[in-house]
Amino acid sequence: MDDEVYRQLRETMARRGRVTDIPEFYEMARTLFTPEQAEIQNAMPAGRFTPGEIAKETGKSEAGVTAILEAMADKGLCMSFVRDGTRYYAAAPLMPGIFEYQFMRGTKTDRDYEIARAINAYRKAAARAAAIPPRVIYPGTRVIPVGKTINAEAAVQTFDQVLAYVESSEPIAVTTCYCRHEALLVDENDVCGMPMEVCMQFRTTAEYLIERGIGRRVSKEEAMDIFRRAEEAGLVHVAINTQRIDFICNCCPCHCAMFQDVLVQPKPAEAMLHSYIPSFDAGLCTVCGTCVDRCPTDALTLRDGNVPDWNEDRCIGCGVCVSGCQEEAITLVERVGDFTPPLNRMALGETMMKKRAEAGF
Ligand code: SF4
Ligand code: SF4
Repeated sequence: MDDEVYRQLRETMARRGRVTDIPEFYEMARTLFTPEQAEIQNAMPAGRFTPGEIAKETGKSEAGVTAILEAMADKGLCMSFVRDGTRYYAAAPLMPGIFEYQFMRGTKTDRDYEIARAINAYRKAAARAAAIPPRVIYPGTRVIPVGKTINAEAAVQTFDQVLAYVESSEPIAVTTCYCRHEALLVDENDVCGMPMEVCMQFRTTAEYLIERGIGRRVSKEEAMDIFRRAEEAGLVHVAINTQRIDFICNCCPCHCAMFQDVLVQPKPAEAMLHSYIPSFDAGLCTVCGTCVDRCPTDALTLRDGNVPDWNEDRCIGCGVCVSGCQEEAITLVERVGDFTPPLNRMALGETMMKKRAEAGF
Protein backbone atom coordinates (compact mmCIF):
# COMPACT_ATOMS: atom_id res chain seq x y z
CA MET A 1 0.00 0.00 0.00
CA ASP A 2 2.89 2.36 0.91
CA ASP A 3 4.69 1.99 -2.42
CA GLU A 4 1.45 2.55 -4.34
CA VAL A 5 0.55 5.74 -2.47
CA TYR A 6 3.99 7.26 -3.19
CA ARG A 7 3.79 6.17 -6.85
CA GLN A 8 0.46 7.98 -7.06
CA LEU A 9 2.03 10.95 -5.27
CA ARG A 10 4.62 11.23 -8.05
CA GLU A 11 1.81 11.29 -10.62
CA THR A 12 -0.08 13.90 -8.59
CA MET A 13 2.99 16.14 -8.35
CA ALA A 14 3.79 15.68 -12.05
CA ARG A 15 0.36 17.15 -12.88
CA ARG A 16 1.32 20.28 -10.89
CA GLY A 17 4.87 20.78 -12.20
CA ARG A 18 8.09 19.11 -13.33
CA VAL A 19 8.93 15.88 -11.46
CA THR A 20 11.55 13.23 -12.28
CA ASP A 21 10.75 9.54 -11.72
CA ILE A 22 13.96 8.44 -9.97
CA PRO A 23 14.59 6.55 -6.67
CA GLU A 24 15.58 9.82 -4.98
CA PHE A 25 12.05 11.17 -5.57
CA TYR A 26 10.56 8.36 -3.46
CA GLU A 27 13.18 8.78 -0.71
CA MET A 28 12.41 12.50 -0.57
CA ALA A 29 8.64 11.88 -0.68
CA ARG A 30 8.87 9.50 2.31
CA THR A 31 10.87 12.12 4.23
CA LEU A 32 8.29 14.83 3.54
CA PHE A 33 4.97 12.91 3.69
CA THR A 34 3.67 10.10 5.88
CA PRO A 35 1.68 7.54 3.83
CA GLU A 36 -1.53 9.06 5.28
CA GLN A 37 -0.49 12.57 4.21
CA ALA A 38 0.47 11.32 0.74
CA GLU A 39 -2.99 9.78 0.37
CA ILE A 40 -4.63 13.11 1.30
CA GLN A 41 -2.30 14.98 -1.07
CA ASN A 42 -3.40 12.65 -3.89
CA ALA A 43 -7.06 13.46 -3.20
CA MET A 44 -6.62 17.25 -3.33
CA PRO A 45 -8.49 18.94 -6.22
CA ALA A 46 -7.27 22.04 -8.08
CA GLY A 47 -8.18 25.28 -6.30
CA ARG A 48 -9.34 25.68 -2.72
CA PHE A 49 -11.27 22.92 -0.92
CA THR A 50 -12.71 22.02 2.48
CA PRO A 51 -11.92 18.91 4.58
CA GLY A 52 -15.47 17.70 3.86
CA GLU A 53 -14.68 17.34 0.14
CA ILE A 54 -11.60 15.20 0.88
CA ALA A 55 -13.54 13.13 3.43
CA LYS A 56 -16.12 12.34 0.76
CA GLU A 57 -13.41 11.43 -1.76
CA THR A 58 -11.40 9.19 0.60
CA GLY A 59 -14.16 7.74 2.81
CA LYS A 60 -12.40 9.08 5.95
CA SER A 61 -14.08 11.06 8.72
CA GLU A 62 -14.12 14.85 8.33
CA ALA A 63 -12.50 15.29 11.76
CA GLY A 64 -9.72 12.88 10.78
CA VAL A 65 -9.08 14.65 7.46
CA THR A 66 -9.07 18.05 9.21
CA ALA A 67 -6.40 16.84 11.65
CA ILE A 68 -4.21 15.55 8.80
CA LEU A 69 -4.65 18.75 6.75
CA GLU A 70 -3.78 20.91 9.76
CA ALA A 71 -0.56 18.96 10.34
CA MET A 72 0.26 19.24 6.61
CA ALA A 73 -0.33 23.00 6.57
CA ASP A 74 1.96 23.38 9.60
CA LYS A 75 4.66 21.41 7.75
CA GLY A 76 4.35 23.42 4.52
CA LEU A 77 2.80 20.52 2.59
CA CYS A 78 -0.36 22.44 1.62
CA MET A 79 -1.71 25.96 2.05
CA SER A 80 -4.57 27.04 4.30
CA PHE A 81 -6.57 30.25 4.78
CA VAL A 82 -9.94 31.50 6.01
CA ARG A 83 -12.49 33.20 3.72
CA ASP A 84 -15.87 34.45 4.95
CA GLY A 85 -15.55 32.39 8.12
CA THR A 86 -14.74 29.09 6.35
CA ARG A 87 -11.31 27.46 6.54
CA TYR A 88 -10.02 26.31 3.18
CA TYR A 89 -6.94 24.37 2.10
CA ALA A 90 -5.14 24.34 -1.26
CA ALA A 91 -2.57 22.04 -2.86
CA ALA A 92 0.86 23.42 -3.80
CA PRO A 93 3.33 22.22 -6.46
CA LEU A 94 6.70 20.95 -5.35
CA MET A 95 8.37 24.07 -6.75
CA PRO A 96 7.66 26.90 -6.34
CA GLY A 97 5.75 25.71 -3.28
CA ILE A 98 6.42 22.76 -0.98
CA PHE A 99 10.23 22.78 -1.35
CA GLU A 100 10.40 26.46 -0.47
CA TYR A 101 7.99 26.27 2.48
CA GLN A 102 10.32 23.74 4.14
CA PHE A 103 13.16 26.24 4.58
CA MET A 104 11.43 29.61 4.85
CA ARG A 105 11.40 29.50 8.67
CA GLY A 106 15.20 29.55 8.63
CA THR A 107 15.34 27.00 11.46
CA LYS A 108 17.93 24.24 11.97
CA THR A 109 16.04 21.32 13.51
CA ASP A 110 16.99 17.66 12.96
CA ARG A 111 14.02 17.42 10.56
CA ASP A 112 15.24 20.51 8.62
CA TYR A 113 18.63 18.85 8.06
CA GLU A 114 16.99 15.57 7.01
CA ILE A 115 14.63 17.30 4.53
CA ALA A 116 17.42 19.47 3.11
CA ARG A 117 19.57 16.39 2.41
CA ALA A 118 16.63 14.55 0.79
CA ILE A 119 15.59 17.49 -1.44
CA ASN A 120 19.19 18.25 -2.38
CA ALA A 121 19.83 14.60 -3.31
CA TYR A 122 16.67 14.54 -5.44
CA ARG A 123 17.55 17.80 -7.21
CA LYS A 124 21.09 16.66 -8.03
CA ALA A 125 19.94 13.22 -9.24
CA ALA A 126 17.18 14.83 -11.36
CA ALA A 127 19.76 17.13 -12.97
CA ARG A 128 22.03 14.13 -13.72
CA ALA A 129 19.08 12.15 -15.13
CA ALA A 130 18.20 14.98 -17.48
CA ALA A 131 21.73 14.87 -19.03
CA ILE A 132 20.86 17.83 -21.23
CA PRO A 133 19.07 20.53 -19.18
CA PRO A 134 15.39 20.81 -20.18
CA ARG A 135 15.12 23.58 -22.74
CA VAL A 136 13.07 26.60 -21.67
CA ILE A 137 10.71 27.32 -24.56
CA TYR A 138 8.72 30.02 -22.78
CA PRO A 139 9.94 31.66 -19.56
CA GLY A 140 8.23 30.60 -16.33
CA THR A 141 10.00 33.37 -14.42
CA ARG A 142 10.64 37.05 -15.00
CA VAL A 143 12.82 39.81 -13.66
CA ILE A 144 11.45 42.92 -11.99
CA PRO A 145 14.16 45.53 -12.51
CA VAL A 146 15.77 47.55 -9.74
CA GLY A 147 13.36 50.51 -9.81
CA LYS A 148 15.68 53.50 -9.55
CA THR A 149 17.83 52.21 -12.40
CA ILE A 150 15.26 52.76 -15.15
CA ASN A 151 15.65 55.69 -17.50
CA ALA A 152 13.49 58.51 -16.10
CA GLU A 153 11.74 58.94 -19.47
CA ALA A 154 10.56 55.30 -19.64
CA ALA A 155 6.88 54.56 -18.99
CA VAL A 156 7.15 51.79 -16.39
CA GLN A 157 4.31 49.27 -16.35
CA THR A 158 2.91 48.49 -12.88
CA PHE A 159 3.93 44.83 -13.27
CA ASP A 160 7.53 46.00 -13.62
CA GLN A 161 7.49 47.92 -10.32
CA VAL A 162 8.32 46.44 -6.93
CA LEU A 163 6.65 49.47 -5.32
CA ALA A 164 3.33 48.79 -7.10
CA TYR A 165 3.19 45.26 -5.67
CA VAL A 166 4.08 46.44 -2.17
CA GLU A 167 1.48 49.24 -2.27
CA SER A 168 -1.32 46.99 -3.53
CA SER A 169 -0.68 43.92 -1.31
CA GLU A 170 -2.01 43.13 2.16
CA PRO A 171 -0.65 41.35 4.09
CA ILE A 172 3.04 41.16 3.16
CA ALA A 173 5.38 38.57 4.72
CA VAL A 174 9.13 38.21 4.64
CA THR A 175 10.74 34.78 4.93
CA THR A 176 14.24 33.37 4.95
CA CYS A 177 15.68 32.71 1.48
CA TYR A 178 14.95 29.00 1.12
CA CYS A 179 17.68 28.39 -1.48
CA ARG A 180 20.49 29.87 0.61
CA HIS A 181 19.13 28.23 3.78
CA GLU A 182 18.81 24.80 2.15
CA ALA A 183 22.44 25.09 0.98
CA LEU A 184 23.53 26.00 4.51
CA LEU A 185 21.72 22.98 5.96
CA VAL A 186 23.45 20.68 3.49
CA ASP A 187 26.90 22.28 3.91
CA GLU A 188 27.51 24.92 6.58
CA ASN A 189 30.40 26.34 4.51
CA ASP A 190 28.16 26.94 1.50
CA VAL A 191 27.42 30.63 2.17
CA CYS A 192 27.73 33.59 -0.20
CA GLY A 193 27.24 36.33 2.39
CA MET A 194 24.02 37.67 0.83
CA PRO A 195 21.17 38.79 3.16
CA MET A 196 18.98 35.85 4.24
CA GLU A 197 15.62 37.33 5.31
CA VAL A 198 14.63 38.79 1.93
CA CYS A 199 12.00 36.57 0.27
CA MET A 200 8.78 38.57 -0.04
CA GLN A 201 5.30 37.03 -0.13
CA PHE A 202 2.00 38.75 -0.85
CA ARG A 203 -1.72 38.38 0.02
CA THR A 204 -3.04 34.76 0.44
CA THR A 205 0.43 33.18 0.47
CA ALA A 206 1.59 35.75 3.02
CA GLU A 207 -1.53 35.14 5.10
CA TYR A 208 -0.82 31.41 5.18
CA LEU A 209 2.88 31.81 5.99
CA ILE A 210 2.23 34.33 8.78
CA GLU A 211 -0.51 32.19 10.36
CA ARG A 212 1.75 29.10 10.44
CA GLY A 213 4.80 30.95 11.76
CA ILE A 214 6.72 30.27 8.53
CA GLY A 215 7.03 33.98 7.63
CA ARG A 216 7.01 37.32 9.48
CA ARG A 217 4.43 40.04 8.79
CA VAL A 218 6.03 43.33 7.66
CA SER A 219 4.69 46.83 7.03
CA LYS A 220 4.91 48.35 3.54
CA GLU A 221 7.77 50.57 4.79
CA GLU A 222 9.76 47.59 6.08
CA ALA A 223 9.05 45.67 2.86
CA MET A 224 10.54 48.53 0.80
CA ASP A 225 13.57 48.69 3.15
CA ILE A 226 14.15 44.97 2.58
CA PHE A 227 13.96 45.43 -1.21
CA ARG A 228 16.43 48.34 -1.01
CA ARG A 229 18.85 46.24 1.07
CA ALA A 230 18.58 43.42 -1.45
CA GLU A 231 19.26 45.80 -4.35
CA GLU A 232 22.35 47.26 -2.67
CA ALA A 233 23.67 43.74 -2.10
CA GLY A 234 23.28 42.99 -5.82
CA LEU A 235 20.37 40.53 -5.53
CA VAL A 236 17.93 40.16 -8.43
CA HIS A 237 14.14 40.52 -8.03
CA VAL A 238 12.67 37.35 -9.56
CA ALA A 239 8.95 36.51 -9.77
CA ILE A 240 6.74 34.02 -11.56
CA ASN A 241 6.09 35.20 -15.13
CA THR A 242 2.58 36.53 -14.50
CA GLN A 243 1.14 39.98 -13.87
CA ARG A 244 -0.56 38.82 -10.66
CA ILE A 245 2.18 37.49 -8.41
CA ASP A 246 2.25 36.14 -4.88
CA PHE A 247 6.01 36.34 -4.30
CA ILE A 248 9.17 38.20 -5.28
CA CYS A 249 12.43 36.41 -4.48
CA ASN A 250 15.66 38.33 -4.09
CA CYS A 251 18.04 35.94 -5.78
CA CYS A 252 21.75 35.25 -6.05
CA PRO A 253 22.91 33.26 -9.08
CA CYS A 254 25.05 30.98 -6.88
CA HIS A 255 22.16 29.44 -4.90
CA CYS A 256 18.79 30.27 -6.52
CA ALA A 257 17.31 27.12 -8.09
CA MET A 258 15.21 29.15 -10.57
CA PHE A 259 18.27 31.17 -11.58
CA GLN A 260 20.40 28.06 -12.07
CA ASP A 261 17.79 26.58 -14.44
CA VAL A 262 18.10 29.76 -16.50
CA LEU A 263 21.89 30.03 -16.45
CA VAL A 264 22.35 26.57 -18.04
CA GLN A 265 20.28 27.61 -21.07
CA PRO A 266 22.20 28.48 -24.26
CA LYS A 267 20.62 31.95 -24.13
CA PRO A 268 19.68 32.86 -20.53
CA ALA A 269 18.07 36.08 -21.83
CA GLU A 270 15.34 34.01 -23.51
CA ALA A 271 14.61 32.00 -20.36
CA MET A 272 13.68 34.88 -18.04
CA LEU A 273 11.20 37.48 -19.28
CA HIS A 274 12.50 41.05 -18.97
CA SER A 275 11.40 44.41 -20.35
CA TYR A 276 14.64 46.41 -20.08
CA ILE A 277 18.27 46.38 -21.17
CA PRO A 278 21.22 48.51 -20.03
CA SER A 279 22.51 51.51 -21.95
CA PHE A 280 26.06 52.75 -21.32
CA ASP A 281 27.32 56.36 -21.44
CA ALA A 282 30.92 56.26 -22.69
CA GLY A 283 31.40 59.86 -21.54
CA LEU A 284 30.80 58.95 -17.89
CA CYS A 285 32.29 55.44 -17.74
CA THR A 286 35.69 55.17 -16.04
CA VAL A 287 36.08 51.49 -17.04
CA CYS A 288 36.30 50.49 -13.38
CA GLY A 289 34.78 47.03 -13.97
CA THR A 290 32.31 47.10 -11.05
CA CYS A 291 29.33 46.39 -13.31
CA VAL A 292 31.17 43.43 -14.85
CA ASP A 293 31.78 41.97 -11.38
CA ARG A 294 28.17 42.55 -10.25
CA CYS A 295 26.43 41.14 -13.34
CA PRO A 296 24.83 37.83 -12.24
CA THR A 297 24.74 36.32 -15.74
CA ASP A 298 28.23 37.21 -17.02
CA ALA A 299 26.66 39.39 -19.70
CA LEU A 300 29.40 42.03 -19.52
CA THR A 301 33.08 41.94 -20.50
CA LEU A 302 35.60 44.67 -19.79
CA ARG A 303 37.25 46.33 -22.76
CA ASP A 304 40.37 48.47 -22.62
CA GLY A 305 39.43 52.11 -22.38
CA ASN A 306 35.77 51.73 -23.30
CA VAL A 307 32.39 50.83 -21.82
CA PRO A 308 31.98 47.09 -21.21
CA ASP A 309 30.84 44.82 -24.04
CA TRP A 310 27.23 43.76 -23.53
CA ASN A 311 25.97 40.28 -24.51
CA GLU A 312 22.30 40.45 -25.49
CA ASP A 313 21.89 36.66 -25.22
CA ARG A 314 22.92 36.65 -21.55
CA CYS A 315 21.40 39.88 -20.21
CA ILE A 316 18.20 39.50 -18.14
CA GLY A 317 17.66 43.25 -17.64
CA CYS A 318 17.92 43.13 -13.84
CA GLY A 319 19.60 46.52 -13.33
CA VAL A 320 22.19 45.19 -10.86
CA CYS A 321 24.95 46.65 -13.05
CA VAL A 322 23.20 50.04 -12.95
CA SER A 323 22.78 50.19 -9.18
CA GLY A 324 26.47 49.42 -8.69
CA CYS A 325 27.86 52.07 -11.04
CA GLN A 326 29.20 55.00 -8.97
CA GLU A 327 29.57 57.15 -12.10
CA GLU A 328 25.89 56.76 -13.08
CA ALA A 329 27.10 55.70 -16.52
CA ILE A 330 24.36 53.05 -17.02
CA THR A 331 20.58 53.32 -17.24
CA LEU A 332 17.96 50.72 -18.10
CA VAL A 333 16.04 51.43 -21.29
CA GLU A 334 12.97 49.66 -22.67
CA ARG A 335 13.46 46.68 -24.99
CA VAL A 336 11.73 46.84 -28.34
CA GLY A 337 8.72 44.50 -28.37
CA ASP A 338 5.80 43.48 -26.20
CA PHE A 339 6.98 41.79 -23.00
CA THR A 340 3.70 41.85 -21.10
CA PRO A 341 3.54 38.73 -18.91
CA PRO A 342 0.45 36.45 -18.92
CA LEU A 343 -2.22 37.59 -16.45
CA ASN A 344 -2.15 34.67 -14.01
CA ARG A 345 -0.86 31.11 -13.48
CA MET A 346 -3.59 29.57 -15.64
CA ALA A 347 -2.77 31.90 -18.54
CA LEU A 348 0.96 31.19 -18.05
CA GLY A 349 0.33 27.42 -18.19
CA GLU A 350 -1.71 27.76 -21.39
CA THR A 351 0.94 29.98 -23.01
CA MET A 352 3.74 27.56 -22.07
CA MET A 353 1.84 24.58 -23.52
CA LYS A 354 1.05 26.49 -26.72
CA LYS A 355 4.68 27.58 -27.21
CA ARG A 356 5.97 24.04 -26.59
CA ALA A 357 3.52 22.65 -29.16
CA GLU A 358 4.57 25.32 -31.68
CA ALA A 359 8.22 24.40 -31.09
CA GLY A 360 7.43 20.70 -31.71
CA PHE A 361 7.92 19.40 -28.12
S1 SF4 B 1 30.52 50.32 -13.26
FE1 SF4 B 1 30.07 52.16 -14.46
S2 SF4 B 1 32.02 53.21 -14.61
FE2 SF4 B 1 32.50 51.10 -13.98
S3 SF4 B 1 32.86 50.00 -15.95
FE3 SF4 B 1 30.70 49.77 -15.45
S4 SF4 B 1 29.69 51.44 -16.56
FE4 SF4 B 1 31.86 51.96 -16.46
S1 SF4 C 1 24.14 43.41 -17.92
FE1 SF4 C 1 24.00 41.94 -16.24
S2 SF4 C 1 23.62 43.19 -14.41
FE2 SF4 C 1 23.20 44.48 -16.20
S3 SF4 C 1 21.00 44.31 -16.57
FE3 SF4 C 1 22.03 42.75 -17.85
S4 SF4 C 1 22.04 40.89 -16.58
FE4 SF4 C 1 21.60 42.60 -15.18
